Amino acid sequence: MMRKLSAKAHISVGLAFLVLSVLLAASFFGMIPDRAAAVRDGRVALAEAIAANAAEIASNGEEHWLAPTLRLVVKRNEHLLSAALRNQKGEVVLEVGQHIGNWTLGNDERSTDEQIQVPILAGKTAWGKLELRFEPIFAPGVMGVLHNPLTQLLGFVFFGSLTVFYFYLRKVLRHLDPSGAVPSRVRNALDTLTEGLLVLDRKQTVVLANRAFAEFVGRETSALVGMNATTLPWVSVDGAALQAEQLPWTLALRDGEPQVNHTLHMRTGDTEQRTFQINCAPVLGGDGKPGGVLVSVDDITEIEENSIELEKAKNAADTANRAKSDFLANMSHEIRTPMNAILGFTELLRRGYSRDDSNAARHLNTIHSSGKHLLALINDILDLSKVESGQLEVESIACSPYALAHQVVQTMNVKAEEKGLRLDLHVDGSIPETILSDAPRIRQVLTNLIGNAIKFTEHGGVTLTLSLDTSTDPALLRFAVRDTGIGIAQDKVAAVFEPFVQADSSVHRRFGGTGLGLTISRRFARALGGDIIVTSVAGEGSTFAASFATGALAGIRLLDDASLRQTVNVELAEAGSRWVMPATARILVVDDGDENRELVATVLGEFGLKPDEAENGQIAVDKAGAKAYDLILMDMQMPVMDGFTATRTLRAAGIATPIVALTANAMRGFEQEVIAAGCSAYLTKPVDIDALLAMVANVVGGHREHAGSDQAERVEAATPVIAADTGTTATSAEASTAAPIQSRLASKPRMHAVIGKFVVRMREQLPVLVSAQEGGNFRELAALAHWLKGAGGTVGFDDFTEPAAELEQAARQDDAAACAHCMNTIRDIASRIAAPEGAPPSPVETVPPLPASSPPQAATDPTAEAAPAMIPIAGESGALHSGLESNPRLHRVIAKFVIRMQSQMPEFDAALAAGDFGTLASLAHWLRGAAGTVGFHAFTEPSQELENAAKAADLDGCNCQVAAIRALSGRMVGPPETEHAASTAP
Ligand code: ADP
Repeated sequence: MMRKLSAKAHISVGLAFLVLSVLLAASFFGMIPDRAAAVRDGRVALAEAIAANAAEIASNGEEHWLAPTLRLVVKRNEHLLSAALRNQKGEVVLEVGQHIGNWTLGNDERSTDEQIQVPILAGKTAWGKLELRFEPIFAPGVMGVLHNPLTQLLGFVFFGSLTVFYFYLRKVLRHLDPSGAVPSRVRNALDTLTEGLLVLDRKQTVVLANRAFAEFVGRETSALVGMNATTLPWVSVDGAALQAEQLPWTLALRDGEPQVNHTLHMRTGDTEQRTFQINCAPVLGGDGKPGGVLVSVDDITEIEENSIELEKAKNAADTANRAKSDFLANMSHEIRTPMNAILGFTELLRRGYSRDDSNAARHLNTIHSSGKHLLALINDILDLSKVESGQLEVESIACSPYALAHQVVQTMNVKAEEKGLRLDLHVDGSIPETILSDAPRIRQVLTNLIGNAIKFTEHGGVTLTLSLDTSTDPALLRFAVRDTGIGIAQDKVAAVFEPFVQADSSVHRRFGGTGLGLTISRRFARALGGDIIVTSVAGEGSTFAASFATGALAGIRLLDDASLRQTVNVELAEAGSRWVMPATARILVVDDGDENRELVATVLGEFGLKPDEAENGQIAVDKAGAKAYDLILMDMQMPVMDGFTATRTLRAAGIATPIVALTANAMRGFEQEVIAAGCSAYLTKPVDIDALLAMVANVVGGHREHAGSDQAERVEAATPVIAADTGTTATSAEASTAAPIQSRLASKPRMHAVIGKFVVRMREQLPVLVSAQEGGNFRELAALAHWLKGAGGTVGFDDFTEPAAELEQAARQDDAAACAHCMNTIRDIASRIAAPEGAPPSPVETVPPLPASSPPQAATDPTAEAAPAMIPIAGESGALHSGLESNPRLHRVIAKFVIRMQSQMPEFDAALAAGDFGTLASLAHWLRGAAGTVGFHAFTEPSQELENAAKAADLDGCNCQVAAIRALSGRMVGPPETEHAASTAP
């Protein structure tokens, strides 16, 4: 039982017993008054007083007087029960109360506390005795003990002191720092721990807290001791206060089991929260039950924050990675398309399949435009990466917004005209003559917005309206591009500014594009103090309004539409001028690339300059040392000695000639590097010829001279001509409203005859195509589609390429629905095809319009003798003529072969596609014999090779030889008169 008592109770009991012992000792020494003795003494004194009185009366022989005295005494004394006088003989002579029966004392016995007998003397002789019977002083048994005042005193003092000691100790111990009981060196050791440490008693009161814990929670250790650990502001992850039973030490105390790796949070400010990792070990008491708990606390706030940061970084990396993948997916198509063209056409040129000049020039044009497209793409990516990495730097230079808009409209007009759209420029009110902004960026934004407007508009037109908004400071110049195109669905409007986002997935399929243009444009506009806002109605059109801060307008003229047109006309006149360079100017072109040197030399040669050339920096240094130059154009990356070293060497040698760096490095900071090396200026590669000429003229003292009417004519000649639609081309009501399609080569008069021939041929083949499609003759359809794809592209009608390729593929897969769909597109394009002005009139005019699905006509049979001659290009120099052409009598047979060959080509292709080596071998065999017979010996070798390859089942070899044969047949030209005869045949 004692075991269960607390230390406080133990101590209190001990102390109470001590007090009791002291009291007993005092009682022993008589220091405490004894009530029993006093009562006893009183009783004896009463008895003796009565006895003395009785002796006096008895000696006088007047005993009868004693009776009233005794009765009075008994009556007055409540503890006196009875009294009697007994004579010498032992007879009771007087009795008051019930005495005789209750008197137990013998004659000689000593008086007790209850029965007192006193002898009575009459004079000198004994007379008798007085007997008094009292109540017992203490009741008999336990009650007597309990009623004993000493017992009561001892009991009272014991329990009183026990209670007082207990509560006193409790109070005192609570205010006593129990940790003070821990030796200071141990405390110091605990305080050096970086881990927080708490010792709690079984009521979770903090008995000890080390310094680390106090610092974690931002309180003094002294303030922590004695407080209940549960009352600290523990919270859950989401900031909700925790109940006692959720705390690990409650569990440790309840279960007597250690609790490990609990994560708790504590609110340490209005918004701040710290995170702790907590381990608890219960401290078992003597009874095997937890008497307290040792709590170790680790502050993992930073680790937690780091892991959150890590998580965020990981998420950001994942997002970036996804964006990168999306980017690659989006880009791969964009890059691959021009890349394919470049590789395909260079391969053709490399293998010499295009020996004909015009053919080669066309391939080169394609390669060039594909290259330009790639470069534009790379510029877009660079722009975006610059914007994304916050490295976009914009200039603030005076520029004319109207002239800028005018230039862009001029450039984009070509595209608009191609699609039969109007592209207008208006000024609303007056706008500043110049603004402070970044002209190239504005040009880029306008080009993108107008390009999109044209791209997404089929009918109607595009209008660019300039206006000044002075409601803001600085004022904004607004360029609003309004179109009547497909518009954008309301829920997609905001998204089109996101990188790689297009209004819907069909946009990419139908129009291409990367979805980067608007993203870049908006960032540019914002960087230039403005923005781009779009309003659009699906199916009706869109307005993209780009605004740019104008900068300060003080002193700048505000001009209206008419005045601005006037200024542009002056500029145009300037643009219509050409450079005149001093013929004596000495220029050195330093570049390790032969083509680059050649290009610069050719361009400068046009202006009468004959630059010297050097292949590397060392040669340049040698040449510049030996001869004084007016200008050195210096490539920076070269073998032997690079441009930097060469420039430094020249400057060190005291040569002050202006050096212009030519660099392909468009990275930021590069310009400073080249200037630091000693260059006077720089131009980026690929070289912009106008910029090069301006730079050269500037250095060597060239000037502009107006070209006069001659130039004006030339400018006009360069404008694409839209052929007058004779009405014979329209095959449907719809087509009559659709824009005519011009050949890409329409601006080259030399090509008109060839284009015209194709147009005729195409119109003849169309019914054949239709009947093949309707009759489900897929093999023929594939062959014809293949022809259309190649021939259309060759003469500059690129619109045919894609649908014809799709048709070919659909026909190969016997997919009737897809074929019908492609045929609709092809028929639509065919109905809009326009022959260029000046094309040989006969074929165009003589062919009647085709009904949409007219049955095949005998005259259109490709094998028919009277069919028109070859469709593909027959340039003058690259044309392949029969060696027997000088003999007029053979013309007819040559012409027949040419026509036959035309219809055989699809056979070759079909056999090749089907991997039908037997047919290929027999076709090749026929070609070798027939071509040789009519004097086309160029076919002999490839057809022999093809026959061999087909016999060896070598598909690659066959492919190669069929391509060679196709290229040759494309160059074949029949005798002149026969062509005409054939084309006019019914
Ligand atoms: P891209 O033209 O290369 O696809 P942009 O960022 O220039 O990329 O345009 C994003 C998308 O916004 C386009 O794909 C198109 O869906 C939509 N869009 C842009 N301009 C127009 C417009 N004038 N009319 C209709 N839709 C447009």
